[in-house]
Amino acid sequence: MTESNTGKALISVMVPCYNEEESLPLFRAEICRVMEQMSAYAFEVIFVDDGSKDKTLSVIRSIASEDARFRYVSFTRNFGKEAAMYAALQASRGDYVVYMDADLQDPPALLPEMMAILEKDSEVDSVGTRRSSRKGEPPIRSFFANLFYRMINRISDVRLIPAARDYRLMTRRMADSILSLCEYNRFSKGIFEWVGFRTEWISYENIERSAGKTKFSFWKLFKYSLECIIAFSTAPLAFASVMGILFCFVSFVGILVIVIRALLGVSSAFGWASLMCVVLFVGGVLELSIGILGGYLSKTYLETKRRPIYLAKETEQDLQNGRREENE
Ligand code: UDP
Ligand code: MG
Repeated sequence: MTESNTGKALISVMVPCYNEEESLPLFRAEICRVMEQMSAYAFEVIFVDDGSKDKTLSVIRSIASEDARFRYVSFTRNFGKEAAMYAALQASRGDYVVYMDADLQDPPALLPEMMAILEKDSEVDSVGTRRSSRKGEPPIRSFFANLFYRMINRISDVRLIPAARDYRLMTRRMADSILSLCEYNRFSKGIFEWVGFRTEWISYENIERSAGKTKFSFWKLFKYSLECIIAFSTAPLAFASVMGILFCFVSFVGILVIVIRALLGVSSAFGWASLMCVVLFVGGVLELSIGILGGYLSKTYLETKRRPIYLAKETEQDLQNGRREENE
């Protein structure tokens, strides 16, 4: 779709926002600067208020009422960044769509360079970004992030790029493919790879948050990584079978030893402690296997409920209708 009155291609900038009242004015100033610079394109900016508890929604409302290029969707509660990303994509109308965080850690100034890559090669449908270093991030977070990427790339079919960000420009056809994946438990970095299409990458130095605090605690990231493993790999399900085969083999060797000892007339009344260790170890492995099964089962359970990914209570349409009613 091309904006009918201007004939320019439309770019949808999609911004998930959770408690970003401090970042939004800075973001607005920066994105307006970039939009002016890229005058060959028309723009719409879609803010998704992910159930913020601060004044984010009223900041968004006032931006949208001042400038018609800004649109928004507001959730009934916090559904998480993934749900916000899906909602933004559903609302978008652009020929091109791009995700950006509200805290300017995804610098809007890179957009002209990203757009130039897409324009140059029609075979490329997406331009992703990655950080060239994790400078400024707590070392423990970087360590576990690297460990996670190494593991998931070994046990899953999709290749996740370490240090890749959600900051990504895509064509409409790729955006539509992503929308067709309406799973409830979402992991966008995996979905971007899963849908295919050719992606070019650009790197940039890590940038600190412009204002406010990170919304992702270590625990939240841990749960998010489990989400990814369950969504994109079934390898952990094989764990129980592999352990089962291993234990069968060990017990078979044990039986052989006992039979030979009996034949040789050696007394068998010994080994209490070692027996206990084996019992506890096998018990532990069984519990772990049941836990893994439970992980997959719970996700399947949530998927089969077919609940909507998010619920919206307000969009810029409501703002416009309200204003119209006031005038009447
Ligand atoms: N975010 C969201 N919902 C959430 C958590 C975060 O929409 O439940 C948004 C947040 O407002 C920001 C982006 O996701 O625009 C990335 O969050 P953040 O900067 O806190 O993460 P970090 O950069 O520290 O990984
Ligand atoms: Mg951030």
